[in-house]
Amino acid sequence: MFYDPNEGLSRSELDALALQRFQETLARASKSPAYQKKNLPSTLRSLQEVRELPFTLKQDLRDAFPYGFLAAPLESCVRLHSSSGTTGNPTVMLYTQNDLDNWSKLMARCMSLSGANRHDIFQNIMGYGLFTGGIGFHYGAERLGMLTIPIGPGNSKRQGWFMKHLGVSVVHILPSYAFRLYSHLKEEGVDPKELPLRIAFIGAEPHSEAMRREIERLYGIKAFNSFGLSEMNGPGVAFECQEQSGMHLWEDYYYAEIIDPETLEVLPDGEWGELVLSSIHREAMPLVRYRTRDLTRIIPEPCKCGRVHRRIDRIKGRTDDMLIINGVNLFPMQIEKTILGMKGVGSHYIIEVHKEQFLDKLYVKIEMTEEAFSGSLSELEALQKSLTAALTSELGVNPKVKLVERGSLPVEEGKAKRVYDYREKELA
Ligand code: ADP
Ligand code: ZN
Repeated sequence: MFYDPNEGLSRSELDALALQRFQETLARASKSPAYQKKNLPSTLRSLQEVRELPFTLKQDLRDAFPYGFLAAPLESCVRLHSSSGTTGNPTVMLYTQNDLDNWSKLMARCMSLSGANRHDIFQNIMGYGLFTGGIGFHYGAERLGMLTIPIGPGNSKRQGWFMKHLGVSVVHILPSYAFRLYSHLKEEGVDPKELPLRIAFIGAEPHSEAMRREIERLYGIKAFNSFGLSEMNGPGVAFECQEQSGMHLWEDYYYAEIIDPETLEVLPDGEWGELVLSSIHREAMPLVRYRTRDLTRIIPEPCKCGRVHRRIDRIKGRTDDMLIINGVNLFPMQIEKTILGMKGVGSHYIIEVHKEQFLDKLYVKIEMTEEAFSGSLSELEALQKSLTAALTSELGVNPKVKLVERGSLPVEEGKAKRVYDYREKELA
């Protein structure tokens, strides 16, 4: 019934496997120079003891650049990925051939959850290269037996042409790009609903449930949330099944904890906090208790699909993209949740924060739909008013809403950039 027998393990089998793999991981990791410095123990008696192990931070990876966390001989590594590194050193991840094989197997498992199979034609609209998103899915898709088209992102005209002429049934795409591609397809006279497309894997950036439902509606498909990060291989850490209610976090590959980001205490299942992950099935560079900065919770209820691997909830944001506006905490995702599904506005928005007379001022700039744009002035005013009211009630702060013409907000090549915070500059 399952693609991979490990999907069907019972709780006790899964815990036993996780403990065994954690023990192997510690024995290996404790030999790396960086973990030697952290005095990482080389043994573990039970999974309960995990919470006593030291955390690993992004900064630790930067400090140990490039090979400090390497737990295998460099000559046994066959691949290197690197994450963006906009501030300071980039971080690098290394992979042995076994790591790559295990990752591909896991990606194939993830995709199989959706019902994708060897009869599908898969267009991978995600970035290739140092970014793990494209390549991770690529090898997984081939492993699953799909006919794989490594097109990468951008060039919407060509995307549409391929989709139309090659019978593409599955895509992997950034949620923000799915909307731009949709408008483009429409302009080209292609109705996405008429295509044989049936499944999209969306992820790599935060997006709301409303955004997923809108993508499903526009394309007439099912869209599955996919979560991962380079430090844990890349994509494939957690993935939605057909229930589409939370992502199964693969406990035979990763050990997950949720902590309070302030007190660093481990929180019980069900409570929201920061996701901490240990990769327990990696050779080259296993990480122990890596603080992802992603905010989520472990869903305590079992999933209807029968898989025991616990689910994490949709990522609410990152501890580092929480905005504090005059003392009120909020996340960009709350804004998206509110504006999506409101008539007259599209899916593209940005958030600007300014200092005005020593106070924080929040601006939400939203692109209108074509119909709203050609509406009357009084209609626009009404739209602006209702958006402001909805946002104020959701956020607890009073934003200034600016409606702008479609196509006028900046777009990024890769993951969408939503927040522009000018406060520091304006105070300087
Ligand atoms: P970078 O940190 O440079 O963006 P990664 O590709 O490793 O590099 O990004 C991983 C991060 O992307 C995660 O820690 C998380 O914040 C975000 N992310 C990945 N998948 C999702 C998802 N499905 N929903 C929300 N955020 C996601
Ligand atoms: Zn499930």
